[in-house]
Amino acid sequence: MEVVVTMIDLHTHSSVSDGTDTIEELVGKAGQAGIEILSISDHDTMDGVDLAQELGAKAGIEVLRGMELSTHHTTGAGSTSIHLLAYGCDPTSEHIITLLRDLTEARESRVPKMVEVLNGLGLELTVEEVEAQSSVASVSGRPHVADAMVARGYVASREEAFATYLSEEGPAYISRYTPCLNEAIELIHQARGVAVLAHPWGRGSQEVLDATEIEKLVGDYHLDGIEVDHVDHDDQARMVLRGLAEDLGLIITGSSDYHGLGKTRNPLGVNTTPYDIYERLKSTIEERGGRP
Ligand code: AMP
Ligand code: FE
Ligand code: FE
Ligand code: ZN
Repeated sequence: MEVVVTMIDLHTHSSVSDGTDTIEELVGKAGQAGIEILSISDHDTMDGVDLAQELGAKAGIEVLRGMELSTHHTTGAGSTSIHLLAYGCDPTSEHIITLLRDLTEARESRVPKMVEVLNGLGLELTVEEVEAQSSVASVSGRPHVADAMVARGYVASREEAFATYLSEEGPAYISRYTPCLNEAIELIHQARGVAVLAHPWGRGSQEVLDATEIEKLVGDYHLDGIEVDHVDHDDQARMVLRGLAEDLGLIITGSSDYHGLGKTRNPLGVNTTPYDIYERLKSTIEERGGRP
């Protein structure tokens, strides 16, 4: 019997947020990489999805509506930033429109503050220079500040900008409004979408969002899935998360988190999701009346 292997990558970023490829380039590169089902999951916006679906249809690539929401989770062990993948949300949902507007406003007001801190550290930089780096984006973020620092020659790469200035521990870090994780899961469900934790045990968030907390998110808020196969998870994290997700009956995805040149360890298709899981994800969206 012929075995048909479908390449499915459900977490990618375009220049609509902090990826470096335009939607056209991203869909083109996905085709070259042999991706047959692709989700565009830009940070806090779905603005690139319609065009990607149009171009994907011409190129024979199915494009699933996605988005990666910035949230936070707080317990007795502390507070951590958590990313949440939202698949198939109805973009006309009032709940989603309000949330995305608040997130975008918070992002915009943060840029001048970061620039001011950097100026105070002796680095000359203007808001306009950051805006030039995010000119095609719907949302501005630390990666665009990093790009402006690279353009000035202060650092060699985004990675170096984060390591020396912009990470949460860095001297130029400014926090911004994010909804709490529980609230974001509820909003996704109100918009009839599917909520999947993005790389939950990458970058040290495991201490706050441990297995017990994940169980609570499923029991109390009906979290739908976990992104298990991701470059930020080592083998041990993947094994434990996979076991946990299986016990809880969750959707288990694997994806690249591609950012173009913005991240070097995340080429398209480096991690993928099996077809049967994709079918379950899509049919869940359809049953809820969402917009895949
Ligand atoms: P923001 O949403 O503006 O707070 O920026 C967070 C984004 O910066 C994340 O979604 C990542 O894409 C990117 N990022 C975080 N840490 C790093 C890093 N060490 N190197 C490169 N990009 C990073
Ligand atoms: Fe990003
Ligand atoms: Fe993320
Ligand atoms: Zn991402």
